[in-house]
Amino acid sequence: MNFAVLTIFPEMFESFWNHGIVRRAVSSDLITAATINIRDYAQGRHRVTDDRPYGGGCGMVMKPEPLAAAIVAARSRQPESRVVLLSPQGRPFDQPTAEALATESGLILVCGRYEGVDERICQDHIDLEISIGDYVLTGGELAAMVVVDAVTRLIPGSLGGEDSADLDSFSTGLLEHAHYTRPRTFADEPVPDVLLSGNHKEIEDWRLETSLIRTFLKRQDLLEQRPLTPRETEILKNWCQDLERIICAQSEHRADPLSGR
Ligand code: SAM
Repeated sequence: MNFAVLTIFPEMFESFWNHGIVRRAVSSDLITAATINIRDYAQGRHRVTDDRPYGGGCGMVMKPEPLAAAIVAARSRQPESRVVLLSPQGRPFDQPTAEALATESGLILVCGRYEGVDERICQDHIDLEISIGDYVLTGGELAAMVVVDAVTRLIPGSLGGEDSADLDSFSTGLLEHAHYTRPRTFADEPVPDVLLSGNHKEIEDWRLETSLIRTFLKRQDLLEQRPLTPRETEILKNWCQDLERIICAQSEHRADPLSGR
């Protein structure tokens, strides 16, 4: 996967390309990482990349000429790559989008600033607009980093060792199960016994159940959107039976005035 990021703040990426999974993916040749300074494609002594908006109003707009020239230059180096504009008006970025982008041969990520980019750039040069959420950032750089990070960790081999993104939250349509590490007891709370049992089947069952519980408690929308496996349906039905038992016990308590409640 070839990444090229077009920005007027290339120095923001110096640290980003050199840390963690992204750095490892670069050094293992799983990805290439280029930062292109849009200012290098601007004309004149001051290499201006923004101008006042036609029609008046506050803020500045990114000029089309330097952006177009920078995109053309990036495309000439990686002609198969999709050109993605980071924009709050774009398609919401989620795990399926990251998975789809991870199959591309390259991405040219265009970072806007100010009020955004001249509309003619969107019309003539952009294949896809991506938003990382319903809020407005000052610039597209952080959004580009989010996209690069989420896509890179899906490229086979990037996580190293036996680590895999297959069980991560959203990959299966559920939130991932709970995690514990040493010490065995922390703040008077022990690690669940099952995780120390060495029984892989029971550990798998426990992980699936905690995954379902978390998704139910935190993101019911995910459960509603997703077909359940027979095993998952069985687990949910068991909870229903447990809940019914608890509710029935409550009505028995009310019927017995000596129960102390
Ligand atoms: N005036 C624009 C609007 O209301 O749609 C917002 C421009 S924003 C201040 C400047 C740049 O930040 C955008 O061009 C885009 O590149 C980036 N940006 C801001 N919010 C973003 C988001 N949620 N996702 C992706 N990029 C974003």
